[in-house]
Amino acid sequence: MHALFIALLLSAGPDAAPAADAAPVADAAPVADAAPVADAAPVADAAPVADAAPVADAAPVADAAPVADAAPVANPLPVFAIARVRTQDPVVALTFDACATLKQDNGFDREVFDILKREHIPVTVFPTGRWIETHPAEAKELAAETWIEFGNHSYSHARMTRIPRRKARAQIARTEEIVAGLGRKSVAFRPPAGAWNRSVVRLAARQHLPTVEWDVISGDAGGHLSAKKIVATVLSAAKAGSIVIFHINGRAPHTKEALPDIIRGLREQGLAFVTVSDLLQRPDAQPVSARPAPFGYRPLHGKKRGPKSLKGIADAHPSD
Ligand SMILES: [Zn+2]
Repeated sequence: MHALFIALLLSAGPDAAPAADAAPVADAAPVADAAPVADAAPVADAAPVADAAPVADAAPVADAAPVADAAPVANPLPVFAIARVRTQDPVVALTFDACATLKQDNGFDREVFDILKREHIPVTVFPTGRWIETHPAEAKELAAETWIEFGNHSYSHARMTRIPRRKARAQIARTEEIVAGLGRKSVAFRPPAGAWNRSVVRLAARQHLPTVEWDVISGDAGGHLSAKKIVATVLSAAKAGSIVIFHINGRAPHTKEALPDIIRGLREQGLAFVTVSDLLQRPDAQPVSARPAPFGYRPLHGKKRGPKSLKGIADAHPSD
């Protein structure tokens, strides 16, 4: 009996061995499948993963693509500033910055607002908290329009990479409170002058805001470019998934002249207009990283530099 039992054990041994080998293999498969998920999860928050991931890699992008519900945008968010998205949908997002600083209130381009309203163009407006404070009536007007969504452009147009972390966080949070006072919530964070690094992106992500820049610079800031040139610039550069940057703060005098031709031209190219959040939520949308720019694109909101410097801005931006 005893011997038989041993014999059974022995005979089971060789049989069991392959089974035992098979088991880990079977287990290994799901584990391997799960790996990307495990990678994606920490992205939402974790510094180590974010640091480890190379900036413009496809993997985190693909994971982040389904940005989910409108606002707040769901984590995990990309660990980079988004320049545009890859999508098959023929859509572009027009964005309008309303920059104001502690020393400079700037203004409001009502004609631009009127054109967008008349043409039924959904847009994303990125005001600084300071702009809202200095333009309370206009800010209310923007907030009353359902075709306008809000982005967060910091409180005082601070260069986020050059201030202490605590202050950078406050720049976003304070503006978010001000936007909430309008009954709105921002859908994205746009760093002033395009200055971003991982730390800034993470700060915004912790407040559920993807960091969004642009891939098409209209060049309207400062009035250096003629309307004709702005039209040509945008029409030649915009494509499906593009994010175009304009200004609506009284610092871009030719935008209103250029907009009608830009709208017509993009429509002729078969492109439709969507907000940034809509763009990010396209089912096939894959965010594309902006180039790292820890010091920003100085001339973007600058006053003194001419068109020549705009080439520098363009050079500092991503292309395919
Ligand atoms: Zn700005």
